[in-house]
Amino acid sequence: MHGLGTEAAFEVLARANALRRQGRDIINLCIGQPDFPTPGHIVEAGRKALADGHHGYTEANGILPLREAVAADIVRRHGVDVSPERVLVVPGGKVTMFFAIMMFGEPGAEIIHPCPGFPVYENVIRFSGATAVPMPLYESKGFSFSAEEVLGLITPRTRLLILNSPANPTGGVVPKEELDKLVAGLARHPGVAIMSDEIYGEMIYDGTYTSLLRYPEIADRLIILDGWSKTYAMTGWRLGYGVWPESLVRPAERLAINSHSCVNASAQYAGIAALTGPREPVNRMVKAFAERRDAFIPALNALPGLSCRMPGGAFYAFPNIARTGLDARTLQARLLEEAGVAALAGTSFGDMGEGYLRFSYAAGLDTLLEAAKRIGAWLERRNASEEA
Ligand code: PLP
Repeated sequence: MHGLGTEAAFEVLARANALRRQGRDIINLCIGQPDFPTPGHIVEAGRKALADGHHGYTEANGILPLREAVAADIVRRHGVDVSPERVLVVPGGKVTMFFAIMMFGEPGAEIIHPCPGFPVYENVIRFSGATAVPMPLYESKGFSFSAEEVLGLITPRTRLLILNSPANPTGGVVPKEELDKLVAGLARHPGVAIMSDEIYGEMIYDGTYTSLLRYPEIADRLIILDGWSKTYAMTGWRLGYGVWPESLVRPAERLAINSHSCVNASAQYAGIAALTGPREPVNRMVKAFAERRDAFIPALNALPGLSCRMPGGAFYAFPNIARTGLDARTLQARLLEEAGVAALAGTSFGDMGEGYLRFSYAAGLDTLLEAAKRIGAWLERRNASEEA
């Protein structure tokens, strides 16, 4: 248990809140959740479910109308038919990740994960006893990967390959050509399963992203992680789903029965309303994220010592901070304590995150521009005092 890592976002959030309680004015750009409320018709569906008496356990894999709504949504988004029997509804996106990694991880096994990447992958891989093999993502390649390099990491001990596009923390989106090459190469490695974390799949600003669901040749070893948290601003409802290969869906369901029994019933009804209701609230949120991105990234690029690529998806900016001369954790701490801006050190996402900070731009435009102003003023003060 001592070796189990955590998510730095929650630690920085606690420090930011402690500073606020002392009366400090802190801008919080460290946490990855939409700053919008859950759309009203979804809240109403959850409320109605409670009023209608949906207070008991449900089927462990999720109520059928919800799994059917997920299947219909997959047809709408990806044009792919998936049986509702392969859908496992779980309390949040993280649960699919935990189940998949625990299913494949054991001492001697290797699991490949994106680096920099969502820290829970590496934490759980190590917890399972497996060896975590980082798949490097380079700024120069738009934080995508080279299929050749990924295929080169596969050994006879590789059990699972974790992919995440659009990505946390970089906002990188893997181009379809690279996925085509990867899937073609995976034909030589039939024993390797794939978990594709597509939780930011609807937060895309230039072009499109390609779901791994579109490759039938890997359907028998592909686990899709998705959910409602980001797309529908529902992080606190704890609602996610996995699409599992036929051979793994019952084992995954047994993990659900042995851990959480089922997802709370009212959240499942709210989930149906989210998928079957108007798209307009989602479109509005995505448009707002796009506008913020278009203003915040140039504002970061105007700061001395920072340079930031335009992220293609999700709601994160991942600027290169090497020219400030500070390492990521020092800059994270000093910006919080001295400039009143909470961001996350890139190293919270693995070793390859050194030299970067992550900002979540799920915050109002004025707040984002004020944050950039504060950071700029702090950097200038620091540069001036160093010169003096
Ligand atoms: N996957 C990625 C890449 C994420 O960034 C997150 C949350 O930040 C999750 C999964 C987990 O989402 P949830 O809150 O639904 O568990």
